[in-house]
Amino acid sequence: MSFNLEQDLEARYEAGLYRRRKTLDSPQGPEVIINGQHYLAFCSNDYLGLANHPEVIASFRRATDSYGLGGGASHLVVGHSRAHHQLEEELAAFTGRERALLFSNGYMANLGVISALLGKQDAVFQDRLNHASLLDAGQLSGARFQRYLHNDVDNLEARLQKTSARRKLIVTDGVFSMDGDVAPVQALSDLAAQHQAWLMVDDAHGFGFLGATGGGVAEAYGLSQKQLPVLVGTLGKAFGTSGAFVAGSDVLIETLIQFARTYIYTTSMPPAVASATRTSLLLLQEQHWRREHLQNLIQYFRQGCEQLGLQLMPSQTPIQPLLVGCEKRAVKMSQLLSERGIMVTAIRPPTVPKGSSRLRITFSAAHKLSHVDRLLDALKVVADSVEIERVTDTASGF
Ligand SMILES: *Cc1c(COP(=O)(O)O)cnc(C)c1O
Repeated sequence: MSFNLEQDLEARYEAGLYRRRKTLDSPQGPEVIINGQHYLAFCSNDYLGLANHPEVIASFRRATDSYGLGGGASHLVVGHSRAHHQLEEELAAFTGRERALLFSNGYMANLGVISALLGKQDAVFQDRLNHASLLDAGQLSGARFQRYLHNDVDNLEARLQKTSARRKLIVTDGVFSMDGDVAPVQALSDLAAQHQAWLMVDDAHGFGFLGATGGGVAEAYGLSQKQLPVLVGTLGKAFGTSGAFVAGSDVLIETLIQFARTYIYTTSMPPAVASATRTSLLLLQEQHWRREHLQNLIQYFRQGCEQLGLQLMPSQTPIQPLLVGCEKRAVKMSQLLSERGIMVTAIRPPTVPKGSSRLRITFSAAHKLSHVDRLLDALKVVADSVEIERVTDTASGF
């Protein structure tokens, strides 16, 4: 008897969807070493350049003197350290919520929250371009599961009008991870209020960049705990560390502590990671120049692309995807760029809808304008040798 695994791998390869890992021999940063080769990279989510920040690293080192390394147990057994607790209190203050709760990563936070809040009598409404962890969480919860058209408040409203579910949860990315556009959170919040629904925003890519002090979409649009009751953030992106948090009311957090299985049945993150994150939270809030510099990089890049006739997607965030369309062509472009010493990843289905493969270009506050010049020069050469489909022909996601 055979599982025929080779067949599935072959099919994936033939479709231009095969994925390979790159092995990194350096810290995350604008310049990385992969398999011994130096590259200028535009693909991490380290938006503020904190993943290799000396103060963050120093906090981590100091904390290992106090706490050692491993969390050693789940939070409810004996793995909840003072460092975890302090970080939770600081994240609650940062987000203007009553409380915050740490999870080991964003994937688990989303699975835990949606499953804890919803069951069979309930309904979950998700933007069709939501992150895979949210979609998986919706399925796992057993609630009636609906996907509405991307950022389409009318389409969502029509669906809300028809439901007779006990609890209704609207779920969206804050900043969409593969498109870089921002959800209409104010309108979603108003709609939730009209339909006695709750709004949950996963702002993995908004924290650190959006809002006057990096508080993400909630801060940028001034959404209170009442307007946006379930706010999720991840620590592996702009915070530059690892983990995730959920911020909300006291009763929400108590519910998660009692019922979120991905919180209860897993080891706490290393306490030193929590300590390091306390330092990155301070830097994230106080060092406005990182957000301002990112804005400059983004505008500079978009103007450069316009001059080259390259059509970007309508994004004003550090995620600047160049839509290519065809899966194989996106991979080819990524290869040609890497031959010129530039690392940009091709994003293909099932991460994005079929026919909307793209180069996901991301910027970090650690990039310089001269890095963007090098990227634009390389894109010009590569785009000339690999014709890019017009955005309007292939876009299915927006
Ligand atoms: C990255 C990401 C996650 C997962 O977070 P991890 O901490 O990496 O597991 C969840 N949601 C969104 C929108 C993300 O971009």
